[in-house]
Amino acid sequence: MNVPLLDLKGQYLSMKDEIVKEMLEVCESQRFILGPKVEKLESEVAEYCQAPYCCGVTSGSDALIIALMVEGIGAGDEVITTPFTFFATVGAIVRVGAKPVFADIDPVSFNIDPAKIEEKITSKTKAIIPVHLFGQSADMDPIMAIAKKHNLIVIEDGCQAIGSEYKGKRVGSIGDYGCFSFFPSKNLGCFGDGGAVTALDEEKYKLLKIFRNHGQSGTYIHDYVGGNFRLDALQAAVLSIKLRYLDSWSEARQKNAAHYRKLFAAAGLEGQIALPQEAAYSTRHIYNQFCICVADGKRDALKQFLADNGIGCAVYYPLSLHLQNCFKELGGKVGDHPVSERITGEIMALPIYPESTDEMREYVVEKIAEFCKK
Ligand SMILES: *Cc1c(COP(=O)(O)O)cnc(C)c1O
Repeated sequence: MNVPLLDLKGQYLSMKDEIVKEMLEVCESQRFILGPKVEKLESEVAEYCQAPYCCGVTSGSDALIIALMVEGIGAGDEVITTPFTFFATVGAIVRVGAKPVFADIDPVSFNIDPAKIEEKITSKTKAIIPVHLFGQSADMDPIMAIAKKHNLIVIEDGCQAIGSEYKGKRVGSIGDYGCFSFFPSKNLGCFGDGGAVTALDEEKYKLLKIFRNHGQSGTYIHDYVGGNFRLDALQAAVLSIKLRYLDSWSEARQKNAAHYRKLFAAAGLEGQIALPQEAAYSTRHIYNQFCICVADGKRDALKQFLADNGIGCAVYYPLSLHLQNCFKELGGKVGDHPVSERITGEIMALPIYPESTDEMREYVVEKIAEFCKK
């Protein structure tokens, strides 16, 4: 049997006619950049995220960069974030000239541990970027309380978590900004690169729109230096259609996660394989990934064994960001963030996409059981 980590073809075929029709409309209009399709998507995403405002941008990476730019964060400033995330979270901080400062993660949610944040705050700290990793929200109440106490901006990296909820609140509606990615493999993906920033404040939303178009406040009048962060209409057209199905996909992912839990319990594997845990505050985990932990240095061997048996797996992420070569001058060393460092050696994602079948999961768990018996 062949079980890919992700297969987007089934999803596409199930709504091909709708999407192609919508894309053709864009072609006929010959309006490719911003315009009515992008505005429509922005109001739909704002509503979906329970945020008052949304600005469509070029990618999730640029969503993070533009939020930092609007805040004027740059050289001499520090931004606190997690060392266990996709590179772009930290890349954005460095790209605007600021210094990333890491706080270790909590072993239950794999998200930034609020108890580790305050000790990292200095007079230079300007913002906190919590990441809602794998589709589960970070613990936002204590993060917001720390931010309020120290007058810091909070930028939620929700690139893996659109529709995820923290105590009943959608991510992207809690911090000052919420950043989202529509990269094809995200839960809501377009046919290329795309992203969005939600904002709670109207003035900041207006600045986001100015900054995404080279800081133009009027035609060829520039009050700021922004960039080209414009979302295109073809991607917005695809996303407006797909957004209608997002809840059904998230529910399918939750169902698939519950099925995995049942199968692992039935196979008696819980002692050897740690399943992802849902934190008490996480009221809607949308399972962009279903990540297990394999202890005793056996992760890579299990991954290879599954690959040899036609099962696609991935390691998100194999190296804690404070140990990356490109951040060497920040002085990070082994032992700085022990939870993140341990998890990078144990974590592994299993196929969980909405269209994956019960038979696929039965096969995956059967093969994991076979490996564990060896
Ligand atoms: C995917 C991702 C990004 C970047 O999004 P792109 O659209 O690929 O630029 C940023 N942060 C996290 C946590 C992500 O998973």
